[in-house]
Amino acid sequence: MTALGENGPIVVAGAGPTGALASIYLARQGHDVVVFEARPDMRRGDAGAGRSINLALATRGIVPLVDVGVIDQVDAITIPMRGRMIHVLGATDLALQPYGINPNEVIHSVSRRDLNAILLGAAEATGNVTINFGRQVTAVDFARSVLTIEGPGGETADQPFGTVFGSDGAGSVIRDAVLGANGGSQNAVRLGHDYKELTLPAATSGGFLMDPNALHIWPRGEFMLIALANPGGDFTVTLFAPNEGAGGFEDLQTSDQIARFFNAQFPDFAALVPDLVEQFQANPTGRLATTRVSGWSHRDQAVLIGDAAHAIVPFHGQGMNLGMESVRSLDKHLRANPQNVETAFAAFEKDRKPDAEAIADMALENYVEMRAGVLDPDYVLKRELALELERRHPERVSPRYNMVMFATMPYSMARTRANTQAELLATLTNGKTSIGEVDFQAAAALVSKLDPLPGLDPLARPEGLSIS
Ligand SMILES: Cc1cc2nc3c(=O)[nH]c(=O)nc-3n(C[C@H](O)[C@H](O)[C@H](O)COP(=O)(O)OP(=O)(O)OC[C@H]3O[C@@H](n4cnc5c(N)ncnc54)[C@H](O)[C@@H]3O)c2cc1C
Repeated sequence: MTALGENGPIVVAGAGPTGALASIYLARQGHDVVVFEARPDMRRGDAGAGRSINLALATRGIVPLVDVGVIDQVDAITIPMRGRMIHVLGATDLALQPYGINPNEVIHSVSRRDLNAILLGAAEATGNVTINFGRQVTAVDFARSVLTIEGPGGETADQPFGTVFGSDGAGSVIRDAVLGANGGSQNAVRLGHDYKELTLPAATSGGFLMDPNALHIWPRGEFMLIALANPGGDFTVTLFAPNEGAGGFEDLQTSDQIARFFNAQFPDFAALVPDLVEQFQANPTGRLATTRVSGWSHRDQAVLIGDAAHAIVPFHGQGMNLGMESVRSLDKHLRANPQNVETAFAAFEKDRKPDAEAIADMALENYVEMRAGVLDPDYVLKRELALELERRHPERVSPRYNMVMFATMPYSMARTRANTQAELLATLTNGKTSIGEVDFQAAAALVSKLDPLPGLDPLARPEGLSIS
């Protein structure tokens, strides 16, 4: 039985969103923390220059940011998105599918770099966190309690540690060492679809060329394009497509193929991006996978957090939100077991693994919903009915998307409830083509059998972030 820090320095490997957040939580428990981050400091020089890449921040990510006191800084750089703006091929009108019926049911576009920079600044401001940039952990020796650290010139040094927090992302080195030591397992399954990020520029006069307060989707069945606004007026746009076959990345090699594909599939987007082909050829293609890990810790010496423990596909916009929610959970378990780190780590995995599994599954399912479902009249009717039932019975019904994005109930509970609700929606819409045909008396009887929804975490800002 050891307390954290008793056996040597506390090291955090990787200063992405989860590592930076974890170091703040650890510092708040009074610990000194040494962080190693492979990349240069994004806040200095032009390491952070280039494309703006953003992601969607939702309630589960907001809660820990409120908890560690940085939400106002983050709030100032977010752009609210109230729903999905659907770009149907061949249609001139755009259709907004609102996310919810309540003002707080919006998600927030935020720059990865700027969010990470806020967390790094807050970590350093604690006075307990030292961040070593350009230093990569390359090996873990549990017997000697030593990490090998490689510097920018390839030089290596030993770093003694008592406990290492592995927040080194989906390709985690710490994970391999932990699983080698504890006999656990990992199962990484590639999606078979890749992604490429592009930029839709700001208007020449400044401002946005599309509505910034929506998540834009061009659903095309097997593939899709999405776009989220950045404060500078540009949009980060991502193509998700199969890596092989028609409409896949292997068919998008020559300038001609790329131009023809975008002009045919996404003509409104292509018209706004003059250097589309150049961008497509210059920007890397990223791979997508789900990694399920069993054995998140080794004794009191190491624990995995964020993508290192649970990497999921990005279609629910939850990977970082999940990671940050998990870091807060780990903080809770460490505080509950101050004299026994090993017990805290085991309790953390027991608590969070079912939730990581549930959101991993829901994220995969949401890809089909985004690229095809949103165009399916049956899906649209069920979604409309779910929102209407939420309006009539807010204490018992919330659409699945909303239980994931705007609630703080465990993901596993959201999944179970969503499955029950899906059966109810299927029953009520069977043979119907419009919401006017639904029998709301029968609906009320079915809904009354559902358990009341759990309340929101008190830090969840039910009023939402400011709508700037
Ligand atoms: C296309 C795409 C879109 C996404 N959109 C969203 C979204 O909208 N919302 C959302 O919540 N999530 C989204 N995600 C997921 C999100 O990006 C990740 O879940 C999140 O970045 C995980 O944070 P992390 O800190 O665990 O890992 P990372 O962000 O990967 O950070 C790991 C850090 O560790 C460093 N590192 C790596 N190896 C070492 C080492 N050996 N030694 C030292 N340092 C090391 C890296 O340089 C990096 O800084 C998306 C992911 C993708 C691919």
